[in-house]
Amino acid sequence: MAIVEVRQIVKKFGDVTAVDGVDLASRDGEFLVLLGPSGCGKTTLLRMIAGLEIPSAGHVFIEGRDVSQLPPRQRNVAMVFQSYALYPHMTVFKNIAFPLKPLKMQREDIREKVMWSASMFGIGHLLARRPRELSGGERQRVALARAMVREPSVFLLDEPLSNLDAKLRTSAREELEQLQKRIGITTLYVTHDQVEAMGLGDRIVVMNEGRVRQVGTPHEVYHRSADTFVATFLGSPPMNLLEKDGLVIGFRPENFLPVQLYGDDRDVERFRFDVTWMEDLGSDRLIYGNVEREFAHRHVVAKLSANVTFSVEPKESYTFAVPKDKLNFFDAGTGLRLEGRFALRDVHGA
Ligand code: ATP
Repeated sequence: MAIVEVRQIVKKFGDVTAVDGVDLASRDGEFLVLLGPSGCGKTTLLRMIAGLEIPSAGHVFIEGRDVSQLPPRQRNVAMVFQSYALYPHMTVFKNIAFPLKPLKMQREDIREKVMWSASMFGIGHLLARRPRELSGGERQRVALARAMVREPSVFLLDEPLSNLDAKLRTSAREELEQLQKRIGITTLYVTHDQVEAMGLGDRIVVMNEGRVRQVGTPHEVYHRSADTFVATFLGSPPMNLLEKDGLVIGFRPENFLPVQLYGDDRDVERFRFDVTWMEDLGSDRLIYGNVEREFAHRHVVAKLSANVTFSVEPKESYTFAVPKDKLNFFDAGTGLRLEGRFALRDVHGA
């Protein structure tokens, strides 16, 4: 059974359709990431699951029960926001105990619950402190412990790491991933950061303009992008797209390399590459330029790892190549991925 499921869910704010008919089902215990550009509707979708926003149409199911009309408190979900929203004047203990208040529990039982939740997140020693006496990572764990204390069946996290600096963000991400796997709670996580999504997600839901464009593992969405939006939203730099005769040919910058680097036995598609400029990023070199005139939008980028010592100079031409099994084909009209017969296509003869 899916822990969280939405069916044909829509949310309109006046003229704006924030979520436009989304179907989605999580798997038990999975880390499901909602990824997309700012304004694509991912926060609105999460808020409808939490019960903080009423859908204009469609249904939300939690553990098989239609909760569409229930208030947040009765949905057995816990939501952690970007800001953590900890109460500054309360100790960590009181912050974690707060959601138990309406349950009118015995003092001892509350204490037991708080200790259980705090120990799960490794913050048992911080219970007497106030939020301002904690690091960003510790605050995050307090917010998670507070969300966990009512033993929800799902965690809803809205960009919980975005207030942390880059270094802390990486360690907090790693920690969150390990915690989630250990606790095994189904988690829906909203972010616009593709690196975070690829690192954390068992599966990623890529959204744009209120709709789901693709659901898949990080490997699937990156290597078998369903359309040109997904192909260019993921990857840094994004996938190169060349157009010719109603066909879009896509390849990732890291697969576009000097032909000499591929062995004779590799079936490759060759391109003349007129280099315009380069950037050295330390770990990689980005090489910008144009391929043959037969293609529309012929500006492309190559990404050469620092291990590749091949000399490349601006204003020179080279033969670069992409293995044929790394080429992607899309319909130029719809942007949708094309499969099968296109896989072996000779791009220059297209
Ligand atoms: P971000 O990453 O910037 O938070 P998002 O993908 O989470 O973006 P949403 O916050 O879900 O996007 O917003 C989707 C669309 O709905 C946007 O166009 C936004 O302006 C609009 N919207 C969201 N909440 C409201 C509201 N309460 N009233 C009116 N419009 C809203």
